[in-house]
Amino acid sequence: MFRNAARSLTAVRALQRTHQPSLARAFSASGLTLNSLDTFTEEEQMLRESVRRFATDVVGPKVRDMDEQEQMDPQIIKGLFDQGLMGIETSADHGGAESSFTSAIIAIEELAKVDPSVSVMCDVHNTLVNTILRKYATKDQQDKWLPLLSESKLGSFCLSETGSGSDAFALQTRAKKDGDHWVINGSKMWITNSAEAEIFLIFANTDPSKGYKGITCFIATKDMGIQIAKKEQKLGIRASSTCTLNFDDLRIPEENIIGGIGRGYKLAIEILNEGRIGIAAQMLGLAIGAFEKVVPYTYTRHQFGQPIASFQGLSFQLARAAISIESAKLMTYNAARRKEEGKEFAKEAAMAKYWASVVAQEVSGGAIEWAGGVGFTRETGVEKFWRDSKIGAIYEGTSNIQLQTIAKFIQKEYS
Ligand SMILES: Cc1cc2nc3c(=O)[nH]c(=O)nc-3n(C[C@H](O)[C@H](O)[C@H](O)COP(=O)(O)OP(=O)(O)OC[C@H]3O[C@@H](n4cnc5c(N)ncnc54)[C@H](O)[C@@H]3O)c2cc1C
Repeated sequence: MFRNAARSLTAVRALQRTHQPSLARAFSASGLTLNSLDTFTEEEQMLRESVRRFATDVVGPKVRDMDEQEQMDPQIIKGLFDQGLMGIETSADHGGAESSFTSAIIAIEELAKVDPSVSVMCDVHNTLVNTILRKYATKDQQDKWLPLLSESKLGSFCLSETGSGSDAFALQTRAKKDGDHWVINGSKMWITNSAEAEIFLIFANTDPSKGYKGITCFIATKDMGIQIAKKEQKLGIRASSTCTLNFDDLRIPEENIIGGIGRGYKLAIEILNEGRIGIAAQMLGLAIGAFEKVVPYTYTRHQFGQPIASFQGLSFQLARAAISIESAKLMTYNAARRKEEGKEFAKEAAMAKYWASVVAQEVSGGAIEWAGGVGFTRETGVEKFWRDSKIGAIYEGTSNIQLQTIAKFIQKEYS
């Protein structure tokens, strides 16, 4: 699993020879390589560096304009594809980078440090759209769709509707069979990436008499007749498009069903569990971005004849924020590694998403105050992190829904 396992083993053997022979013997006898939670492969570290450069050099200069204009720059979307960031886990055969899930998490985090809007575009495309196809599509479907999604076509995940948000499986969009096609009628709300996307995963009910067990996932392209309606004007992540979609007798070929008829609910639940780690990474990156933007300023800004960070009142606030960021980081990476190791991770993902969104709000809100008046202006970009942070407690399951998931695990364990 970890490519640096060999190096870690060498370190354990060095320990055996020197200071802690009994501990090191226990490690190697168990066959385990014990690493800190922020241990990354060389490939993952290289990816972090290259995404950091892309985010700083290419995204950074455009952040404010994109936020003001509520528009994603097409060059940024192209850049994400050119950088290989739109098929991170996809196999090389399908034009992807064939990297780990943690690599996707790292990319989402690094992008969010600079712009959470760009981060969520990459997140939805990778952790929801690509993952559904990698896990549930047939080989023919993968051969057809994954190369497009790796190389040039942006994807959207269309589950929520006006009347079904937290209760997602109460969705009203219907699909009726007509020969070798399905005809979809209904609408979706809040769909990320939808203004720019060309490929859509649409959840519709093929047999309402079966309740949520009629929900089925379809893949469609915009030119099949998807109507992109109202674009929302939002508090935060304003460069990320969020639109209503209408389907008026949208005809989709039978071969575009992903994962089988009536399997949509299962597929959505499983994918959203993974997706939540992506949102945790977005919120983690956001918190770090706000922290790193303001903390250096607190050492250069003088009041009462000394740097404001030298006052205990402020330095303790920075210390608490650093602790919060560290805890969100460890929870996010741990959930990601558990998923990679094939361990149960739904509880850890819910915890990481819940906590990282709390930390993002606290740290970005604090950052405005540490910067004083300038933090409150749009020019510095600090207030944008705070506006962007609110969404972490809403999409891919609100904070209450995460608490509900965690509470169910506690009940299972203790009742
Ligand atoms: C910017 C943005 C992007 C989005 N992107 C997508 C996307 O790409 N694809 C997609 O399918 N959806 C997307 N969504 C939809 C998002 O997932 C929903 O908004 C979210 O699930 C909440 O649903 P709701 O807005 O209907 O709120 P509601 O479900 O009406 O919730 C309102 C409040 O009630 C609380 N509540 C609801 N049920 C319970 C309960 N059982 N116990 C306790 N409290 C409860 C919630 O926690 C919340 O505080 C997006 C939303 C936004 C705002």
